[in-house]
Amino acid sequence: MFISDVVIFYMKKILLQGFPSPGPTAATKNIVFLTDALSVLQALKSSKNKDLNDLTSALTSLSQTHTIALQWIPSHCNVFGNETADLLAKKATALQQNDYTTTYSEAKTIIHAQQHEEWLQEHPNHVQNDAYHALTRAEQVVIFRLRTGHNRLNHHLYTKLHIGTSDQCTCQTGGQTVIHVLQHCPMYENLRNLMWPQDTPMAQKLYGSLEDLRRTATFMSETGLSI
Ligand SMILES: [Zn+2]
Repeated sequence: MFISDVVIFYMKKILLQGFPSPGPTAATKNIVFLTDALSVLQALKSSKNKDLNDLTSALTSLSQTHTIALQWIPSHCNVFGNETADLLAKKATALQQNDYTTTYSEAKTIIHAQQHEEWLQEHPNHVQNDAYHALTRAEQVVIFRLRTGHNRLNHHLYTKLHIGTSDQCTCQTGGQTVIHVLQHCPMYENLRNLMWPQDTPMAQKLYGSLEDLRRTATFMSETGLSI
């Protein structure tokens, strides 16, 4: 069954933002989730889909203090807010999609990191020293994934997401981590020496000047690795 990651992501995001404690009126105590993703509702009902365990437990915990209803609505039926939701969903599908599942705690970490990034972008005076914000969007994605460790390198895929058969790099000299690729992997030694003729610490590669960050993004692109 196809489960809409986008829908699950936004439901989790809503749940993570939290709800006010129920007040004396029903208005704050009753919550209705309207969704046109019938497959998600069906999967929640059957409660056999492991992808939804975290969502189920988040809903269960919210139901301790609130009355929750999940309501399927067909798309485009003039429900207030539906068009905005559609617009956001369309925008979301245009974004780069992860092709692996994300656990609840990882989604939480990623969302918090993204909210932090959004906050930083809205407060440019606070970040004038971080060259990250002068990068192109594509370069930002690479640097963000290297900085957070949430990426498609084998170490993360294998140890966190249980994808693949080991965390080893194809060079078989160690786990395919960010530090391995940037600093040690023999497969990229020539490329590394070309990009950084002198030994350059990780901190400079990930948090240095605009030129440093660009160099790192270019290096990653030249390795051909899917980050
Ligand atoms: Zn390697």
